[in-house]
Amino acid sequence: MTNIISSNLGYPRIGEKREWKRSLERYWNKQISEKELLEQTDAIRLANLKKQKELGVDLIPVGDFSLYDHVLDTSAMFGIIPDRFNYNGGKVDLETYFAIARGRKDAVASEMTKWFNTNYHYIVPELENQKPTLTENRPLAFYKEAKEKLGINGKPVILGPITYLKLSKGYEEKDFSARLQEFIPLYIQLLKELEEAGASWVQIDEPIFGTNVSKEVILEAKQVYEQFKQAAPKLKLILQTYFEHIIHYKEIVEFPVHAIGLDFVFGDSLELIRQYGFPEDKVLAAGVINGRNVWRANLEDKISQLELIQQYSKGNQLIIQPSSSLLHVPVTIKSEVKLDSDVKDGLAFADEKLEEIVLLTKGLHSGKDSIKTERKANKNALDRFSNSTNRNNKQVQDAINKLDASDATRSLPFNERIKKQHQELNLPLLPTTTIGSLPQTTEVRKTRTKWRKGEITTAQYEHFVKDNIEKWIHIQEELGLDVLVHGEFERTDMVEYFGEKLNGFGVTEYGWVQSYGSRCVKPPLIFGDVSLDQSMTVKESVFAQSLTDKPVKGMLTGPVTILNWSFAHDDVSRYTVQNQIALALRKEVESLEENGIKIIQVDEPALREGLPLDENKWKDYLDAAVYAFQLATSSVKDVTQIHTHMCYSEFKNIYDAIDGLDADVISIETSRSHGEIVSTFEENTYAKEIGLGVYDIHSPRVPDKEEIKQNINRALQTIPKEQFWINPDCGLKTRSEAETIGALKAMIQAAKEIREEQ
Ligand code: GLN
Ligand code: ZN
Repeated sequence: MTNIISSNLGYPRIGEKREWKRSLERYWNKQISEKELLEQTDAIRLANLKKQKELGVDLIPVGDFSLYDHVLDTSAMFGIIPDRFNYNGGKVDLETYFAIARGRKDAVASEMTKWFNTNYHYIVPELENQKPTLTENRPLAFYKEAKEKLGINGKPVILGPITYLKLSKGYEEKDFSARLQEFIPLYIQLLKELEEAGASWVQIDEPIFGTNVSKEVILEAKQVYEQFKQAAPKLKLILQTYFEHIIHYKEIVEFPVHAIGLDFVFGDSLELIRQYGFPEDKVLAAGVINGRNVWRANLEDKISQLELIQQYSKGNQLIIQPSSSLLHVPVTIKSEVKLDSDVKDGLAFADEKLEEIVLLTKGLHSGKDSIKTERKANKNALDRFSNSTNRNNKQVQDAINKLDASDATRSLPFNERIKKQHQELNLPLLPTTTIGSLPQTTEVRKTRTKWRKGEITTAQYEHFVKDNIEKWIHIQEELGLDVLVHGEFERTDMVEYFGEKLNGFGVTEYGWVQSYGSRCVKPPLIFGDVSLDQSMTVKESVFAQSLTDKPVKGMLTGPVTILNWSFAHDDVSRYTVQNQIALALRKEVESLEENGIKIIQVDEPALREGLPLDENKWKDYLDAAVYAFQLATSSVKDVTQIHTHMCYSEFKNIYDAIDGLDADVISIETSRSHGEIVSTFEENTYAKEIGLGVYDIHSPRVPDKEEIKQNINRALQTIPKEQFWINPDCGLKTRSEAETIGALKAMIQAAKEIREEQ
């Protein structure tokens, strides 16, 4: 009989109530010492491990915890520190570690980008010319800690060399192999030490194998893993992939490792093992519980799926696990006391997913009957969820069925309507604007919390929001911005806010997931058909517009981003849900326009991150995204100007889609991608208006005018001045008032001087 065990790939770092975030921020604000920070985060990490042990997980990941990001941890471990941080070897101190992520006075932060197709961001390693060294054996330290303090024989998690190198920048493609070789002895040392310390399982993450890497890279990788095997023969290495099936499946399953982890939720792993089999001498680690959604699994379906997997895999051991790290889901539904019980019935967060895994392991090991009661409870909960009355809306379903291409095209082409818009808006050359949000001070956040707790009335809260809008309209006028914003003070988050107002959405209290660094987001749940009863943003936009003669931009989050940053049910296709959201937004766009708003920005920062890992699926995804965006925005008058905004993106391969959105103006984060984006526009001739962010808003550093001028001038070498807008990289909500005013002053002065030079 097959031996079956349960495993986890990674556990959320943030704690049940985001304790982790608070500790980090207190440390950054110098409210606690390094010692206190470490004490607090050690406690969180140990509690996470203990919980997994109590839930009965057999293979508990260690070393997945981080004080910022696991890719940055890997860089620090190998001494890959950019020169500008004056690193002198040895273990990387905490100050340098955070400086790489967040920037410091004398050195800009490293670039940050999305972790595959998730909303998690990692710090991009800069290889430059450093020679990698092993500055500390991080996984070993965490392995020992779990063993000594909790008696857990943990499974160290390591970011694999192929993925690490592929995610790094600063070297040329042709040097891949040479650079890779520099790291192999370090990985070997690390593995040997783990073996000596008694570790048995080690998980090496290589999610890059779910993307279209070349055959040469695969061959090279095979040799690397052969060396690992020789160096530490007793370790049971798990080559772990996720987010997609392995693209070069046949080659990779032959790698000399003990186990291979496959994602059976995203991609076609089941089809691959059915068609090509799975080597008998290897252990299959089957990721059957979705590590990226929040829905309760259907245990009957999962059991059938696992039975099929067992039938095709033939090995004598099976590991049951989530499809990916649980980093991407909130911690536990136990903290949710306000959610409707029929919605709660449909949910499973990290802890509940681990319970499912443990149950499935038992069921497969000891027979289905051994979990009879739990299966029944699972079925009852799912029945209550699907029959819940607020899930189905016939009208919405009908509207979706009637859609065609003509619903998503503006009546005039860009070059004709833009002339009308210029007349209507009468803006100067190189118009200045911001991306939408203005500083969310402690006072703003505190007041919202008070209102949520019922300590102040809705009227008082709305009054407070209005005061902030008014204050900032004046500040923006004084600064001399050309297109103003109301500041988004009423929004905690650009998706949650809409989730609270749209039908078919639910909002959790503690459903936070890490986005970057200490920043967490709380994705709404989309549990049913989406529709809109009342306008969502008109009140604030109209109020702001009433205070000024300058145009105030209406500010919405686009359908693709709302979908990608929500936890959407999977009863119908994602594209259907996306179009439902788009139709609701279209209504909102129309009401903004009717109420006198002349510029409407529909943000799509998540457009790129949602790209499937398998390039063959890109076209479908992008076509659907473009359609939904246009569905939301194309019904406006010719004179109404549609803006969009995107961040942390690389546009090389999606240029046509960006153009296809047909937005009159697009603003894009550029400064942290160090000019790469500008070059994309160089290769193409983008005809619409565009603002390439002229300073980085993620860092507390206030840029100076000269630096901004340089950025503008660099962009103007590629983009005609008539098309160019001047704006920061992204929203300003995480910055302080002083930083914001200082930076905007510099930006506006830079714009003025450049205008004069024209
Ligand atoms: N309008 C949003 C803001 O300014 C855009 C945020 C984003 O791109 N992530 O906050
Ligand atoms: Zn942005």
